[in-house]
Order: sequence, then C-alpha cells, then structure tokens
Amino acid sequence: MTSFDHHAAVCRVCEGPTRSGFALCFCCKTIVGSLLMPLAPVASVTSYRVGDSVHRLFRGYKNAPVAESRRLCATALSSLVETWLTAHHDRLPARFGPP
Ligand SMILES: [Zn+2]
Repeated sequence: MTSFDHHAAVCRVCEGPTRSGFALCFCCKTIVGSLLMPLAPVASVTSYRVGDSVHRLFRGYKNAPVAESRRLCATALSSLVETWLTAHHDRLPARFGPP
C-alpha cells in the first residue's frame, strides 16, 4: 500500500481509484465536464496495451482482412466476456440493476 492508497476510494462510474470524498475519478469527472451529462456505470472486462494480444483481438474482429480471422477474434472476445460474466454475475445486479 502506498500513501496514495490510504486516501483511495472507488469511482461510481468506472470503479477505478479516486480520492476519498470524491464520487468520480479524475477521468470520469473530466468526461462529465466535457459531455455535460451524467455517465452510466461501466465495468472493465479486461485491459490492454496497444499491440498486445487483447488489442489485436479488438482490432482483428473488425479489421482483419480475412473473414475467418475476424470470426476467430470475435469468438475469442466472446469467450473472454463469457468468462468475465460467469466470474462477476453475483455483483452485477447491485451495480447495474436487475436483468
Ligand atoms: Zn471513473
């Protein structure tokens, strides 16, 4: 734990870290300020860096030149989401409301 963690809380929109006493993290607050409208809660299923395997899946399911490659990328992403939903289904109603 760092000294920053001592003051950390959870952003109501993205569940990312924010300072204690703040409902939104800096990024979400900045977006609200730009859009001038409230944000819907989101959940991060995965993270990626440009060029890594997950990034290639996100690019590939839309932009791969071969249909079979697009299908394989879409299937891999679908599996990733299904795994995440299975692992997190218990907490989803509390965060997003009933199905
Ligand atoms: Zn946030």
